Amino acid sequence: MTKTALVCGAGGFIGNHLVSALKAEGLHVRGVDLKRPEFGDTQADEFMVGDLRDQNFVAEAVEARFDEIYQLAADMGGAGFVFTGDNDADIMHNSMSININVLDACKRSGSKRIFYSSSACIYPEENQMDPENPNCEESSAYPANPDSDYGWEKLISERLYQAFARNYGMECRIARYHNIFGPLGTWHGGREKAPAALCRKVAEAEDGDTIEIWGDGKQTRTFLFVDECVEGTLKLMRSDVAEPVNIGSDELISINALADLIAQIAGKTVQLQNIPGPVGVRGRSSDNRLIADRLGWSPNAKLADGLQQTYAWIARQVADTQHG
Ligand code: NAD
Repeated sequence: MTKTALVCGAGGFIGNHLVSALKAEGLHVRGVDLKRPEFGDTQADEFMVGDLRDQNFVAEAVEARFDEIYQLAADMGGAGFVFTGDNDADIMHNSMSININVLDACKRSGSKRIFYSSSACIYPEENQMDPENPNCEESSAYPANPDSDYGWEKLISERLYQAFARNYGMECRIARYHNIFGPLGTWHGGREKAPAALCRKVAEAEDGDTIEIWGDGKQTRTFLFVDECVEGTLKLMRSDVAEPVNIGSDELISINALADLIAQIAGKTVQLQNIPGPVGVRGRSSDNRLIADRLGWSPNAKLADGLQQTYAWIARQVADTQHG
């Protein structure tokens, strides 16, 4: 019989790519989201538009038993959305409601295997003060001290999934994603993340222009291309690894160096102007020892390769906007 999958958050960036990967494997896929994908149409067999904070809608969406359920829906965005403090109540309330509703509905429908997308934002702030040596080993999550309510919500929801696994026999798989980027992601409007924002700024710049970078630009991060994120997600989902694991790259780069790399890919010379802005922790890198050990797999694509594809896509969006 054809395997079935439900993807919550299928209208979002990673969810949309995940649906395509599941379809390529031949699964029957139902996508659910507040909205259809902004860029490119979904490949899902069925797509339900609705609000996962609404228990009745969730009951409808999860009315049958699915072989695989992927829960990626969340109220989220880049630093400009998550670190200002202005959206904390919505972020916590909306994402927690979604997770509680989805788990309840899975339990009722007898769907056992559930993937939950947590985040690197759960790691304690004090372990990420040194931009060259951040500690994001999975076991360092406790004692907990995330630097945002977005991170706290993810950590509490991780525990919710683990508690449902312990008490109701569910098989939860939890990934802590580290900065995923790629084509078809949000690239303007305030919720975009650093790689997309910088690709847009470089695409909009004339040769020799100055672009603005939030913070001193010496803060470091790692960025994972969306194809590898989806590959890791599927591997984790089909594994017996019940504890949360990082899915991220360990190719550390400062934000200023990221901007320079994008400019180089674009073939432009740009000056960087560092301005005050929401930046988050000083350094963050995926520790991939556990995933390599447990899954025999870890991401290894070069950042520059993923950026090339992402820049090309965003430059096309910018050009279409300017000419349209
Ligand atoms: P995204 O914002 O593109 O996708 C999330 C989707 O959830 C959106 O399409 C949104 O409409 C949907 N959604 C929000 N509230 C909803 C509701 N009430 N009902 C139905 N749908 C709702 O984000 P993404 O980058 O694709 O991230 C997917 C998941 O991975 C999220 O849970 C996010 O927190 C997590 N994550 C992402 C990253 C990253 O770098 N992109 C890093 C860490 C964790």
